Amino acid sequence: FRASLASSTLPIVEPRAFFVAGRPVHGEGELTVTHPYDGRVVGRTTVATPDQVEAAVAAAAGVAAAAAALPAHARAAALDHVSRRLAERADEVAALITAENGKPVKWAKAEVGRAVSTFRWAAEEARRFSGELQRLDTDPAATGRIALVRRVPRGPVLGIAPFNFPLNLVAHKVAPAIAVGTPIVVKPAPATPLSALLLGEILAETELPEGMFSVLPLPNERAAELVADPRLPVVSFTGSGPVGAAIRRAAPEKHVTLELGGNAAAVICEDWSSDEDLTFAAHRIATFANYQAGQSCIAVQRVYVHEWLYDGFLPRLVAAVQELRTGDPTSELTDVGPLVSVEAAERVEAWVDEAVAAGATIEFGGRREGATYPPTVLSGVPSSAKVCREEIFGPVLVVTPIENDQAAFAAVNDSAYGLQAGIFTHNLQTAFLASRTLEVGGVIVGDVPSYRADQMPYGGVKGSGVGREGLRSAMEDYTEPRVMVLTGL
Ligand code: NAD
Repeated sequence: FRASLASSTLPIVEPRAFFVAGRPVHGEGELTVTHPYDGRVVGRTTVATPDQVEAAVAAAAGVAAAAAALPAHARAAALDHVSRRLAERADEVAALITAENGKPVKWAKAEVGRAVSTFRWAAEEARRFSGELQRLDTDPAATGRIALVRRVPRGPVLGIAPFNFPLNLVAHKVAPAIAVGTPIVVKPAPATPLSALLLGEILAETELPEGMFSVLPLPNERAAELVADPRLPVVSFTGSGPVGAAIRRAAPEKHVTLELGGNAAAVICEDWSSDEDLTFAAHRIATFANYQAGQSCIAVQRVYVHEWLYDGFLPRLVAAVQELRTGDPTSELTDVGPLVSVEAAERVEAWVDEAVAAGATIEFGGRREGATYPPTVLSGVPSSAKVCREEIFGPVLVVTPIENDQAAFAAVNDSAYGLQAGIFTHNLQTAFLASRTLEVGGVIVGDVPSYRADQMPYGGVKGSGVGREGLRSAMEDYTEPRVMVLTGL
């Protein structure tokens, strides 16, 4: 069957195959994917049967030794191929991301561009990832000894991904697995499996051994079977806090990385005071509070502004938010699309209503239409409100004046989360103070917290997770050191 669409700008998708041990297959039932903007069906796939799940896991375990023995040139060639093919198919992939996730096509293109570079960078890392040589003759008793420390895969990886970056967050799990030579079983989010299936198509074109990767569409409750399977000793999870905590409880003996949520803050410090400074910060914050309709774990949610700058900053922020175009995500002109579902937008609406009932003022925005919630700026929000304390995962900004930089840093830390923070300052001392005192995985100086590059370790503290991603970090995570001591040298 084919899903026919009224609009020619959305791709028409047959029931897509998923991948068991690198081969395209169909399963049982039907998983229908709808476009969040208007609910149209944009794709279908099927659900992996228990036998198919078993075949995927058994193949991953069976090929692990051969995968670990793959030469660096073979791993790098596969990664380069994926990067090249994603670049060649970029428009198609971006349209698919927009179709299933609802993010504006310009952000979908940016996501594809990121995945292209993730695989390219992974190919480079695959070529140089080696371990180290350590001299042991610092102790007289060890004269003539050296240690060779190699990194060996811990075993097949289970990669579980959320809906908000349906391609890129899968890429962040798959690319380091191939780079170190370990098999991976991917479980994409049920709302957005299509981009991961397309990535599976491209992976299937490579010379990687059979069993090296599987992509299994499964509903949430079936994912727990994979988490429990001892043949997948490494779990790399990106998603919400409660699911992450459940995975940790269910698999205490496994090596688990959790990339969870956040309520990221930006601080406008005392010295960030010129007209240009304030206008720049207002535009950056407006953009990165609302990109992906706020559905990014490092979207700006809270802004603390030095009180003497507040009256100059707030109108600039509101003006910058006003400039954003909200609407049909398939238009190249759209900045802010719908949330992933009507229920998600209703939750955001309820939290804003709660803040307003507690005394907050809506400076801009605040009226939901279906799954679309407009970019919204709130002031006068009590710090106990959900829009401050929880992860809003929607296009809502809370702006608060604060008496000095130290108090702002304390307010940033007054959170159950700690992913990244953005500190607008020109002052090196203030930047170092922020880096020392903020309880986060990363501080971005002179910009929003929403910056992530594949070269750097990325992840959070407190409720934002355990462990780090970023290619190098993930490659270390997927492997363990194995020491060989050589004597008599
Ligand atoms: P979610 O936790 O609902 O789902 C994530 C994945 O987990 C999905 O594939 C889902 O099917 C699966 N899942 C659900 N229940 C499971 C279970 N019991 N066992 C195993 N797997 C299970 O998250 P979501 O709504 O898709 O994504 C939004 C969340 O992801 C937000 O909290 C966001 O902050 C977080 N996120 C974090 C990062 C990061 O890098 N820190 C990046 C993006 C998104």
